Amino acid sequence: MIGVTVLGSTGSIGVSTLDVLARYPERFRAVALTANTDAERMAEQCRAHRPDFAVMVDAGAATRLRELLADMPQPPEVLSGVEGLEQVAAMPEADYVMAAIVGAAGLRPTLAAARLGKRVLLANKESLVVAGALLMRTVADSGAELLPIDSEHNAIFQCLPPNFTEGLDRVGVERILLTASGGPFRDWSLERIASATPAQACNHPNWSMGRKISVDSATMMNKGLELIEACWLFNTRPEHIQVVIHPQSVIHSLVQYSDGSVLAELGNPDMRTPIAHALAWPERFPSGVAPLDLFTIARLDFQAPDLERFPCLALAIQAAREGGTAPVVLNAANEIAVAAFLDGRIDFPGIAAVVSESLQCLPSRSVEEQGLEFLLAVDSEARACAEQLVRERAD
Ligand code: NAD
Ligand code: MG
Repeated sequence: MIGVTVLGSTGSIGVSTLDVLARYPERFRAVALTANTDAERMAEQCRAHRPDFAVMVDAGAATRLRELLADMPQPPEVLSGVEGLEQVAAMPEADYVMAAIVGAAGLRPTLAAARLGKRVLLANKESLVVAGALLMRTVADSGAELLPIDSEHNAIFQCLPPNFTEGLDRVGVERILLTASGGPFRDWSLERIASATPAQACNHPNWSMGRKISVDSATMMNKGLELIEACWLFNTRPEHIQVVIHPQSVIHSLVQYSDGSVLAELGNPDMRTPIAHALAWPERFPSGVAPLDLFTIARLDFQAPDLERFPCLALAIQAAREGGTAPVVLNAANEIAVAAFLDGRIDFPGIAAVVSESLQCLPSRSVEEQGLEFLLAVDSEARACAEQLVRERAD
């Protein structure tokens, strides 16, 4: 039996992961599930998947979970606090760790799993944006298996030969074509985007996801974070990645080779495909996703991204080129700005403005040989700066 810890089990990716795991009870066992505050959903998951441990980061939610599970014959041990996350990511029973916490909050437990050489199923793209060099170095040192869950990166991984880690140029790759749906505002004018509401931003045309990544898709910051993620995962540079708007989200990304061949991975937009791919890898097994029907899809469209209407994508590309602490600041400021937008404190264009001004306030510094504490200090500093900018805009 393969033991699996699911970090962020109550979220969109977490729920899809448990759906796939439950199809193979003879193969996988839930070691631990974790969540931030949603004790009710966690209680349901504990009854259905019977993990050994359940972590609620929020102490009040942990107390509530213990009450909710009091009548279970063998309830899981309930832990609380951020230490609990690292503990269940690192325990020997956990062979695989699904990293599906949203934001930089996922970094510590993801690193803990990587340090112990586990198979890490990485949905939490923010950990690579914040600590790409550190995480990749940790994976190389420990021999961990880092498998991308983000649909684009999982697609690219599938289109690359097994020895791609030797360098993309050595395996004949010319460039990566990173597809993007364009989000709910793809065809909106700048004027209309300026008054977009949180409900409109969270209404993604193709994917059902958590609120933070939904807003990131609407600003296209998500594609920028993914470009940085791809640079680390595939050891390449922003110049070798082209963002391609593809509204149908059927092609999840492509790899262009020097002989003119272009390989793509296609499928219905359902995260259970990349999740099942990474759980079964290097084998394959059914995921519960309906087969792709090309006749129903009928056509696939492509267009170039518009960096003027989507300034967050331009900011992320700039931060990727700059490197150092720029991606850390970009990510932290974006997390603060998105939360402020969702709370109604700033308008939609305010997100790009806060990120841009934060990057100007905190010039990039080298991260070479820097450890986790340095990165977290930069992250905190950027959050404070972005909070201040939000307050100034909200006044
Ligand atoms: P979500 O908001 O639906 O779920 C987030 C999970 O993390 C929840 O279980 C929540 O309890 C937990 N969490 C939130 N804040 C936390 C904190 N401070 N500490 C500990 N736990 C916390 O998010 P999601 O859509 O499932 O996305 C999760 C990650 O996967 C993100 O990094 C996102 O970018 C990435 N991702 C998601 C999708 C998707 O389809 N949803 C696709 C690709 C990548
Ligand atoms: Mg994606």
